[in-house]
Amino acid sequence: MTATLEADLLSARCVADGVLLNHIGGEWRDASDRGRSQNINPATEEPLLEVVVSPAEDAEAAVGAALAAGQHWRHSSIFDRAEIVRKAAGLLRERAELIGRTMTLEEGKPLAEAIGEVVRTAETLEVYAGLAYRAQGEMHSGHRPQEQWTWTTKAPLGVIIVISPWNFPMLLPAGKIVAALVTGNTVVFKPADPTPLTAAALVAAFEDAGLPPGVLNLVLGRGSRLGPALIKAPAAAVTLTGGNDTGKSVAVAAVEHHMKCQLELGGNNPALVLADADMDLTIRELTLGAVGSTGQKCTATRRVFVADAVYDAIAGGLAKAFGGLRLGAGIDPETKIGPMVNEGARDDFEAAVGQAERAGTVSRFGTVPDRGFFSQLTILSDVDPDAEVVRRENFGPMVSLMRVSGYDEGVERCNATHYGLSASLFSASMKQAIRWVDDVDAGMVHVNSQTTGAEPQMPFGGMKASSNFSREFGHWGLDWYTQVKAVYVEG
Ligand code: NAD
Repeated sequence: MTATLEADLLSARCVADGVLLNHIGGEWRDASDRGRSQNINPATEEPLLEVVVSPAEDAEAAVGAALAAGQHWRHSSIFDRAEIVRKAAGLLRERAELIGRTMTLEEGKPLAEAIGEVVRTAETLEVYAGLAYRAQGEMHSGHRPQEQWTWTTKAPLGVIIVISPWNFPMLLPAGKIVAALVTGNTVVFKPADPTPLTAAALVAAFEDAGLPPGVLNLVLGRGSRLGPALIKAPAAAVTLTGGNDTGKSVAVAAVEHHMKCQLELGGNNPALVLADADMDLTIRELTLGAVGSTGQKCTATRRVFVADAVYDAIAGGLAKAFGGLRLGAGIDPETKIGPMVNEGARDDFEAAVGQAERAGTVSRFGTVPDRGFFSQLTILSDVDPDAEVVRRENFGPMVSLMRVSGYDEGVERCNATHYGLSASLFSASMKQAIRWVDDVDAGMVHVNSQTTGAEPQMPFGGMKASSNFSREFGHWGLDWYTQVKAVYVEG
């Protein structure tokens, strides 16, 4: 990382002697045991910056700081909270290019996508600054109207543990953090290992917007070490976005320690293409959905069921579209597809392609640069929908194409998975579209658009194993962070 970028973005206070620090109780602090790891640029394999790796005691100190700050924050005015959130949104807009560059350097996504994510984060904060006033209770008539008043009030939960993945390193934790803050909770934020700089930039924006010390704390380090130190009393709740195995271990810890637990997990998202679909639009949207962000989105299009009559047109169109996408470093404006996030992710994905070769016809596209953790774009065609490689979530730029006779078989195939995050139908028929909304098992349902689109005023989350029955974003995202009290007052 260049010295200028570091100084500009993080104003030096988040970095001491070239090491990115934790933020606990309003101070940027080293790990208490001075643990270190190296943040790597996945496009070049070169080191960016050293980052602290915290021991359990630092996680406990962060929870302590959040608990202390909560005594005041839970009683602060909703207007003051909303004003801080609005200011943080403004700072993110001002810093969008710098933060976007940082995100691209550490995560790999093309610069335009990274800047877009920062702007979308600012929009999310603005939505919540408006929704802050909604987190109120209701008046109800009681049995004795002149003598008794009954109402409900929503109390904050307390200290919220926010654990986030690397693929949307700003938007996803920001959605959780802002919903927690406007409802009067305080937060300990544990970001994913590959994206600590983006996390620090988010925390710095809240700090610069005037958030009081201790209300939002940042602890960097390994999830397996910090998880057990964070998911226990005195924290009140944990919200995780991540893989299903991680979800299971977080849920078990939460049950054991009587904590509220929200999980947003994996997906294996289907698209169904009917014979009357607009071919150009379908090919464009399937391409974006399958390989945008190098296929590293929970909502990426992974299984595509195509009506027999148009299968060859879709297969040919996708091959042409994939072949036209340039792989490269995300910082290069010509790049359409960046690297995989790290070496392990690239190797796991290549192992999945190896399995795919035994299950169907594999075609690969794009020229892999000499350095960096790149993988070619991959189409797996004429594959058995029950093959193991199709049934699980392969986190990378691969899409499976399968033939179906029409709508009924297509919906059945789409739903034959334990995931239920997002799904798309491509058809000119409004009647089919309305049936589709009803029939498909997905928390986010698209018609004639990619499986990956989502907006901050709308609920985000999945059915089945993709989530544990809650929704994030919009007003749906607020309720999870509160608990209702029933109030009876005698006159
Ligand atoms: P991951 O599960 O490896 O890690 C997620 C977070 O959990 C990280 O911060 C990690 O450090 C932490 N963690 C790991 N072990 C832990 C433990 N034992 N206790 C507590 N925390 C622990 O996931 P990832 O590789 O960062 O992200 C990719 C996965 O996330 C994919 O499966 C993807 O589908 C999913 N995802 C889901 C959504 C959604 O909204 N449904 C969005 C984005 C990504």
